[in-house]
Amino acid sequence: MSVVPLTGELLIAGAARQGQAGAVHAFDASTGARLEPGFGKATLNDLEDACAAAQAAFRPYRALAYAERAAFLDAIAEEIEAIGDDLTVRAMAETGLPRARLEGERGRTCGQLRLFAQVVRDGGFLDARIDPAQPDRAPAPRLDLRLRNVPLGPVAVFGASNFPLAFSVAGGDTASALAAGCPVIVKAHSAHPGVSELVGRAVQAAVAKCGLPAGVFAMLHGDGREIGQGLVADPRIKAVGFTGSRAGGLALVRTAQARPVPIPVYAEMSSINPVILLPAALAARAEPIANAFVAALTLGAGQFCTNPGLVLAVDGPDLDTFIQAASAAVAAAPAQVMLTAGIRSAYENGVTRLGEVRGVSIAGVAAPAVGAASPALFAVSGRDFLAHPELTEEVFGAASLVVRCQDLSELRTITEGLEGQLTVAVHVDAADHSQLGELLPSLELLAGRVLVNGFGTGVEVAHAMVHGGPYPSTSDGRATSVGSLAIARFLRPVCYQNLPDPLLPDELKATNPLVLHRRIDGALTAP
Ligand code: NAP
Repeated sequence: MSVVPLTGELLIAGAARQGQAGAVHAFDASTGARLEPGFGKATLNDLEDACAAAQAAFRPYRALAYAERAAFLDAIAEEIEAIGDDLTVRAMAETGLPRARLEGERGRTCGQLRLFAQVVRDGGFLDARIDPAQPDRAPAPRLDLRLRNVPLGPVAVFGASNFPLAFSVAGGDTASALAAGCPVIVKAHSAHPGVSELVGRAVQAAVAKCGLPAGVFAMLHGDGREIGQGLVADPRIKAVGFTGSRAGGLALVRTAQARPVPIPVYAEMSSINPVILLPAALAARAEPIANAFVAALTLGAGQFCTNPGLVLAVDGPDLDTFIQAASAAVAAAPAQVMLTAGIRSAYENGVTRLGEVRGVSIAGVAAPAVGAASPALFAVSGRDFLAHPELTEEVFGAASLVVRCQDLSELRTITEGLEGQLTVAVHVDAADHSQLGELLPSLELLAGRVLVNGFGTGVEVAHAMVHGGPYPSTSDGRATSVGSLAIARFLRPVCYQNLPDPLLPDELKATNPLVLHRRIDGALTAP
């Protein structure tokens, strides 16, 4: 167990205090044992203090030199690394995830912070544009127009249960909001409060080390329905980042929309990530694709938002081969510990529900084990799939459904009827390319990421990544929560018309003191 002493305190305005509204406890995901200490839940006074501090910090924080903002992001990464092995040990206990996965996730989290430091230094996110005045233009002169992006203001972040580091206290939402110039208040996920405290203290240490206003970061424990809702309703909060269930995400969207001044909620919710097997690929590689599919399905007990929960292919002997191989691999897979008892019970109920739908048969299931969840594979005809829309609901965990389509036309009908997804994967050989070309326009409308001969699990943190998609995979399909483009969620363009040069922000001054690439009269121009 962790040797770093956890205090169970809230982190507000550069200080720590015990929450007085009861306590939340973590549980060992493998044994169910309660872990110490209790984490005091925030009261409305704590919420008020965190919001007031964030508001006070906003103007000085956004006014910092970009080099200082970038150094702060780098400093957070250094502080997280400095926690050492205690972070991994506590995360293993709280989530049941294995060491290697958590060490990789820590690397990804720190890499993500450093990527956003680079984004800030680069300055491209400001999207500086200049349309110089044209006083002699006929019939009417054009005035001088200049544009840059500015931060929205304090952001509320709800961490995910399935990524205790990369999508939590100092994860992608926090890193991109801080990079944009927005203070952050995190509602810690109750499934990993100890990890949250360790990382939260690392962020606080970086704030102090960089001499920033203390309200740039806060972290609150408490129930989502109380403290989380209170946070999103607070007029000082200007945007929300969330990863979790559709019910939770939509509840926050409703609150944000009902405010006197509505705000954007970027909620990443549920997705079943269809996998399409085209005929030539299936004929050539049914078994290897089946084995790779089951490896992706069972990775991390299937607790990925990009988990392949649906397979579509034309029925026939090649699909039989695929199903047989996949069923054998699923049956041989071990039952796995899930993140929380609640998530395991939701998975088991989902699997039972799936198996009870008319026409659905179980193809393969892993042996049961106490306190663990067994991967499961089901099959259904295309006709029965179309007749039962409930089959498109996410079962969060290692369960998937293979749809035996009558022909490519039915496969296409099913694909075009699906709800918005984070990813869609297509397995092809050269002989399938023309069919893939025909499907592509539908796939672009379906998902945020279209991928070939792979599976959506494993989301690269990069400039061209999209981890988002049409509703209901997210509440706003125009955005991504992974990769450098995630910063755009927390920015807003402002146009300056006819401002005297000395009063313009540095990004837009004639001398280009920040040495930015700028779009001048529509053309991207080097400094
Ligand atoms: P969750 O129940 O949606 O919780 C996520 C966060 O939102 C928690 O901090 C939670 O607070 C808060 N919250 C939940 N309902 C809320 C509400 N009505 N108002 C305000 N805040 C609320 O998700 P989870 O516990 O991580 O996992 C449960 C299910 O979410 C899974 O079974 C799975 O279906 C789905 N999930 C999806 C993804 C994905 O990436 N698509 C990832 C993880 C989970 P408290 O719990 O502390 O009250």
